[in-house]
Amino acid sequence: MEDERARIAGILDDLEYHRAFDVEGRLEGAIRIERDALEAGAADLHMRGRLVEADMRLRTGQATEAALLARDVNQWALENGPPSLLARSHVVLSSIFESVGDSASGLDHALRALELLDDETPERTRGSFLIRLADALSVAGSLDAARQRYRDAEQVFVAIGDVERQISVLNNLAYTESEGGEAKRAWDVAEEMRRLAETSQFPLSPPLLDTLARAYVGVGDHERAAIALEAGLQALGTLGNVEADTPAGLLLTLAEVQRDQGHLEAAQETLDRCRAICDERDLGVFGVEVVRVQAELHAAAGRFEQAYQTHRVFHAETQRLNSVRREANARTRQALFETTEARHEAAHFRDQARTDALTGLPNRRFLDEEIPRCLAEVTAGRPLVVAIVDADHFKRVNDTLSHEVGDRVICELARVLEGALPTTEEDASLRPRFVARLGGEEFLVVLPGLQSPAGTRALKHVCTAVAHHAWQPLVGDIPVTVSIGATAARPRDTPSTLLARADLSLYAAKAAGRNRVIVDERPAG
Ligand code: GH3
Ligand code: MG
Ligand code: MG
Repeated sequence: MEDERARIAGILDDLEYHRAFDVEGRLEGAIRIERDALEAGAADLHMRGRLVEADMRLRTGQATEAALLARDVNQWALENGPPSLLARSHVVLSSIFESVGDSASGLDHALRALELLDDETPERTRGSFLIRLADALSVAGSLDAARQRYRDAEQVFVAIGDVERQISVLNNLAYTESEGGEAKRAWDVAEEMRRLAETSQFPLSPPLLDTLARAYVGVGDHERAAIALEAGLQALGTLGNVEADTPAGLLLTLAEVQRDQGHLEAAQETLDRCRAICDERDLGVFGVEVVRVQAELHAAAGRFEQAYQTHRVFHAETQRLNSVRREANARTRQALFETTEARHEAAHFRDQARTDALTGLPNRRFLDEEIPRCLAEVTAGRPLVVAIVDADHFKRVNDTLSHEVGDRVICELARVLEGALPTTEEDASLRPRFVARLGGEEFLVVLPGLQSPAGTRALKHVCTAVAHHAWQPLVGDIPVTVSIGATAARPRDTPSTLLARADLSLYAAKAAGRNRVIVDERPAG
């Protein structure tokens, strides 16, 4: 079984790392590996597979499906971990938000992903998260910050000798510069990318050649742009595993370059090839772009009436596409919104279920989770004192005054107990000290990090604070005091052995006359 886990994890490593290539193949691979993980009973690996699936669906234009998947994984990881999966889910959510035009949320998720990384994170993961952040900054319009993150990412990949990723960083940076209208900078970076590819004998893939060509177009070097694009089209034959719209993108850029060079017939031929691909693969966005370039080609050839008619078609098609896109975005947004809502609601429910309605203190359910955690630290050598606090002769308050006054006394008691706790020392690694309501007029005080003598002192202070509190406005002359039974945790304690000892001490405190503290000082047995 361990072998099977390792096999699945290995495949997932690869699927996660090479995100941009052979999208269709990877989508199938992800779905296969999800099934394998389920059969192996490995829920965490199943979720990793689903996240790869989400990423690939986004890349094939199925943003809503991607959102639903990423949302599930995000929620699962939030509850079950590990942080690396949660971080990756934020990376994918970042891309999804960006794809529906919410660049602020895209940025937010990219940052959250990085915050979740730690010293154990492989450098290449850190590098690819930095690329995501840089992309998100770029889309959000923070060009300078984006540049800086791209260069940070580049450094990471230089340090681990990953040339492929270095080139991919430069590609994204050059693209960012082009989109930002920084033609000269785009050209510089694109040249840097080309030289690195050349010296390291790493062939530029078609999408990278497209970026290079665009950078050349930006500075008016049509000749080199055409050469780069031809090379890209050639490479499609050998490196066929690119995203579906890469061939259309290359042809479209080439048609524009040829038009600008005045090679109108060649441009028309290229555009026809592009149109055929778009029709065949249903590439809506590029299909509309084809119409635009066609209108421009007509105009360049002096066929103004045709140019005008074609431009009208372009205009209408753009409108139609925008409205289709708006609807799709709305669906995806809805799916993403439900993620946020569900998370808030789940957290709210969790908190509510763990809080006592009358006093607002943590309740028994909270203790059921928290005490085992505290005991785990006892095993690791941290001291712990717990104390049961029970109001003395409380029936008297209820009987003499009313149940309602009794309730108010319980609330006030909760505040007094909380206020009298010793504050947690500077040691941030300690769990916080707290009071919980066990039920009725009984409370539990939990003091991590305290030994018996200091614990006893602290509890005596609590006991006195209650006795000296100004109860008169609430109860008149009826005294309000508490008895406290405490014990120090022992390495082999379970929650029930621990509380049973505290309860025995409480019984002893009541028997000895109430309004006092008794701590179990017996040595660990
Ligand atoms: P002792 O000093 O031995 O603890 O005396 P006691 O009267 O406090 O006795 P005991 O602990 O056995 O009983 C607790 C009483 O507290 C019983 C009930 O009347 C009252 N009580 C329990 N829960 C609540 C509550 O939520 N609100 C109010 N007002 N009273 C409660
Ligand atoms: Mg009681
Ligand atoms: Mg009582």
